[in-house]
Amino acid sequence: MARAAVSGRLTWRVATLVDARAEGASARTLTFDVPDWPGHLAGQHVDVRLTADDGYTAQRSYSMSAPADGTHVEITVQSVADGEVSPYLVDVLTVGDAVELRGPIGGWFVWRPEQADPVLLVGGGSGVVPLMAMIRARRAAGNRSLFRLIYSVRTPADEYYAEELRRRARDDHGLDVTVIYTRHGESAHRITVADVNTHGWPPDLEPACFVCGPTGFVETVADILVALGHDPRRIRTERFGPTS
Ligand SMILES: Cc1cc2nc3c(=O)[nH]c(=O)nc-3n(C[C@H](O)[C@H](O)[C@H](O)COP(=O)(O)OP(=O)(O)OC[C@H]3O[C@@H](n4cnc5c(N)ncnc54)[C@H](O)[C@@H]3O)c2cc1C
Repeated sequence: MARAAVSGRLTWRVATLVDARAEGASARTLTFDVPDWPGHLAGQHVDVRLTADDGYTAQRSYSMSAPADGTHVEITVQSVADGEVSPYLVDVLTVGDAVELRGPIGGWFVWRPEQADPVLLVGGGSGVVPLMAMIRARRAAGNRSLFRLIYSVRTPADEYYAEELRRRARDDHGLDVTVIYTRHGESAHRITVADVNTHGWPPDLEPACFVCGPTGFVETVADILVALGHDPRRIRTERFGPTS
């Protein structure tokens, strides 16, 4: 399955929305049923294509938020103000509607259940989506690798998967979760070297580092990790959009 998931030929498939739930204040998790879905790895993404009545099409990339589960593909979409595609996916698409979807895409920003090294996940805003897929895949595989997540988000109302993350931090042995608010409370701040130093792993442990979010966030965190002594070859990044 893993080989097919990484190198399979990409074809557009019809994906029918079978479930939708709000995720924080302005995002939505969408579950599609995709017949003949070949499976995927945590960290991979799909392209979603919308077609208007006049034939105009628009496509965007979305990371999968959950590991492979038969023909189900789950994504979480943040509504971007004035965006062409995301507000439609968050506010308009209804259970039973169909879109086109192709994937899985990406063979570098992936975590495999057979990995045993410690893992540091650092997500900014919607960048937590593929990291959540890794946390869920670890649990589903019964993998005992040490995982740490540092999640930077504006306010508690903007948090994705809030209840599940708290539950997993309590119940999933070897998983630590730290949430940093950038616009909430007296300690509101953007992620610093002290945060990564305190809540990440020391470079001596040679963790696999996955960093995902807006371009500016990813560059800041990657610079911090290198400055702290992490091997750049062990830092994998995924950029979601324009500079934050
Ligand atoms: C590999 C990959 C994975 C991605 N995974 C996810 C995901 O899991 N969840 C998710 O919500 N998004 C994800 N994105 C971003 C997504 O592809 C779209 O860029 C986003 O949904 C905006 O599309 P739009 O059509 O609504 O906005 P557009 O019409 O393309 O843009 C409207 C305005 O918003 C700005 N903008 C565009 N994208 C962003 C952004 N990401 N953040 C802030 N401003 C932006 C544009 O500069 C423009 O000013 C991913 C992107 C990539 C490359």
